[in-house]
Amino acid sequence: MSLPQFKLLRPRSLQEAIELLGKHASLRVLAGGTDLIPSMRQRLFDPEFVLDIRHIAELKGIRPTKGAGVEIGALTALSTIERSTFLRQHYPVLSEAAATVASPVLRNMGTIGGNICLDTRCLWYNQSLTWRKGCGFCIKKDGDLCHVAPGGTKCWAAFSGDTPPALLCLNAEVEIAGPSGTRRIPLHEFYTGIGDNYRKLAPNELLTRVFLPEATADYRGLYRKLRIRGSIDYPLAGVAVVMKRANGHVSGAQVAITAVNPAPLLVPKAGPLMEGKIMDEALAEAVGELAAKVAKPLTTSALTPEYRREMIRVFTKRAVLAAASA
Ligand SMILES: Cc1cc2nc3c(=O)[nH]c(=O)nc-3n(C[C@H](O)[C@H](O)[C@H](O)COP(=O)(O)OP(=O)(O)OC[C@H]3O[C@@H](n4cnc5c(N)ncnc54)[C@H](O)[C@@H]3O)c2cc1C
Ligand code: SF4
Repeated sequence: MSLPQFKLLRPRSLQEAIELLGKHASLRVLAGGTDLIPSMRQRLFDPEFVLDIRHIAELKGIRPTKGAGVEIGALTALSTIERSTFLRQHYPVLSEAAATVASPVLRNMGTIGGNICLDTRCLWYNQSLTWRKGCGFCIKKDGDLCHVAPGGTKCWAAFSGDTPPALLCLNAEVEIAGPSGTRRIPLHEFYTGIGDNYRKLAPNELLTRVFLPEATADYRGLYRKLRIRGSIDYPLAGVAVVMKRANGHVSGAQVAITAVNPAPLLVPKAGPLMEGKIMDEALAEAVGELAAKVAKPLTTSALTPEYRREMIRVFTKRAVLAAASA
């Protein structure tokens, strides 16, 4: 499949990128391009301009600040996050999640910003133009019905990035910049929960930085992922867990899930349920049940919704037991 025609813009600074974002309406941002380019080949996006931000040096790198956690530039490669000694030591859940994305080559190209902004996925959407045309299109692109939930008006395409559940557990914030200024919001406010309009990011805005607070450093962290091909595949269910213990009791914990809803989600009651308790099979089972209740998978992928939801329960139970056994 060939790429559609577009004009390439290559800013060298954030300021220049923001000026270009203010000038052109039909534009897509390209970071590593590992998701955008295949999607453009499938004619899911047909922009007049592509803004290649890869040469903006100020958006690359991991910068720990004493007492204030760490700042990660949006263009930092997933392989850099996977290998960072600082992140592996202080925020291990993030390195572990990054290490499960796609394959080594794609992690060298793919960025943390691109992973957070990743388009939602569905069996009826991530297809060629000919395939989608044959099915009469759908709400997410060019049509007005949903093949997954016929009769409804909402798109349920699943958010399928691996690092956002880890970032949610770590209470990450993201910085967003555009012609009207810069704002910083908690990551959990970035997603809408609607498959076809899944992020609160205007077409003329960039995600520029990710911040992890000092308060969530040094938690034990794990990420568990269900995929069809172990060597290279998007998650079809994913669970991130962070936990701290004191005197054998859980003193702080969070659980977040991905790939089973149109947004990655924290499991809100999981932390409070574990807090102050000693982890055992019954408690782990109860946390697994809570996570499974938050998961609302539909027939958007090759595995059945029932199996994906069950694996959220199983992975959560196993992950909290493992986090508590260290
Ligand atoms: C075969 C294959 C397997 C894959 N497996 C996985 C997987 O297992 N897990 C997973 O999470 N992903 C997977 N991916 C998707 C992709 O490789 C990763 O999600 C990667 O992190 C995307 O980052 P990128 O920099 O390449 O994003 P791009 O492709 O450049 O961009 C992705 C989207 O985000 C937007 N965007 C990117 N950066 C910014 C920014 N800074 N500000 C605003 N918008 C931005 C783009 O416009 C685009 O809409 C896979 C891809 C392929 C081709
Ligand atoms: S969930 Fe429905 S509207 Fe959304 S991409 Fe799938 S078929 Fe299309």
